[in-house]
Amino acid sequence: MSSSVALRLPSIDGLLRHPACAPLAERYGRDSLLTGLRQLLDELRPGVLSGQLSAVEIGAEVLAGRVGERLAQQQRSQVRRVFNLTGTVLHTNLGRALLPDEAIEAVQMAARYPLNLEFDLASGKRGDRDDLIEGLIRELTGAEAVTVVNNNAAAVLLTLNSLGARKEGIISRGELIEIGGAFRIPDIMARAGVRLHEVGTTNRTHARDYEAAIGPRSGLIMRVHASNYSIEGFTARVPTAELAVLAHAHGLPLLEDLGSGSLLDLTRWGLPAEPTVRQALLDGADIVTFSGDKLLGGPQAGLIVGRKELIAKIKKNPLKRALRVDKLTLAALEAVLGLYRDPDRLAERLPSLRLLTRPQADICAQASRLQPLLAEILGSVWQVSAVEALGMIGSGSQPVARLPSAALCCRPQVSKRWRGRYLLNLEAALRALPIPVLGRIDDDALWLDLRQLDDEPAWLAQLPQLQVDR
Ligand SMILES: *Cc1c(COP(=O)(O)O)cnc(C)c1O
Repeated sequence: MSSSVALRLPSIDGLLRHPACAPLAERYGRDSLLTGLRQLLDELRPGVLSGQLSAVEIGAEVLAGRVGERLAQQQRSQVRRVFNLTGTVLHTNLGRALLPDEAIEAVQMAARYPLNLEFDLASGKRGDRDDLIEGLIRELTGAEAVTVVNNNAAAVLLTLNSLGARKEGIISRGELIEIGGAFRIPDIMARAGVRLHEVGTTNRTHARDYEAAIGPRSGLIMRVHASNYSIEGFTARVPTAELAVLAHAHGLPLLEDLGSGSLLDLTRWGLPAEPTVRQALLDGADIVTFSGDKLLGGPQAGLIVGRKELIAKIKKNPLKRALRVDKLTLAALEAVLGLYRDPDRLAERLPSLRLLTRPQADICAQASRLQPLLAEILGSVWQVSAVEALGMIGSGSQPVARLPSAALCCRPQVSKRWRGRYLLNLEAALRALPIPVLGRIDDDALWLDLRQLDDEPAWLAQLPQLQVDR
């Protein structure tokens, strides 16, 4: 481009006074606008000097528009709602359990007003935050005492450190597990200051293996729920009740990390059996730890329940202060636990249980209803079908169990070498929607499992914005 007259960027002052910028100052604040304009002008300057930009491209209107887009982008929250159509209900990367209205109201109350977090209203003296939920948890699990921390990983760390530091922790080789996100039992034990004493083999561990390991340096016996894998075939595992007798005969506490754990027997809702906290305690476990946001269906938390003198010891550990839960969590947890008092209505009121027990026929009907709408939007390159699918509970509960569900299955009708590209593009387009939609790619198709599609109107309303190869 030959330019006899050199172009010049508009001045900051000029831009600030321009009518197109006034609403931006009003909306985002003058300082943010100023910063945005300066950045933009700095970026454009080289292009202007080298003559690559036209007068239109650096006009005040255009610049105001570009700054406006940036400010809107910056203001948008990084914490975003998504549609979880992956088929995994308690998805750790997508925030696990959804809270019931009762818990959301409790969180709002706790956020908005001062509360008796550590204040005993009866005596007017200082209280303990665990007391707010201790009664409920004792009632629901039969435990003598309770303490709550930030998550179950913290519960395991704190319990091990409180009861087994500088001693040996005896555990079966079949239970030395890794849960996603770098939670590995041997590492947690080491960080807790407990020396790992592994016994038995990966597939078979007997009572005599534990017995042979017990000695003067033993501090505890630990049992860990295998959670995200299963050992099948030629296996042997000592029942908790038998292990408890052995531990107690040698004066050792038995810890059981249930992982998800459940407060009620899930088979009453047709779900696969998961060990309950009450049963583990009845079997003789002295301490049981479990998560608040897995099958319990509450906020992220780690619950430690069991014998009174052991819980007292755990609560005295200075680490407890570092791992404690906040008031919002406690408020939500109390509300969720309250719902368990009425098991008959739990599946209606607790979102995670409602979603886990949603009948397949219901999901199939929804898939048939939505299939033509999605097919229309995706166009003829895609074959969209309403099909039966298998989902999962997630969060390490029942890794091999499958939840019969239904999905919209999207297959690109292109030659094999292009399929992968089309699938990734569709996946990206779904993620780019105002409320990102997350599915899963499997078997040369993109699957949208509808078990968790509660808010159908919001999902449908944004579909026309989908930008996809046709
Ligand atoms: C999930 C799980 C944990 C970790 O619980 P978080 O609440 O995620 O910290 C620990 N142990 C077992 C057996 C688990 O399944």
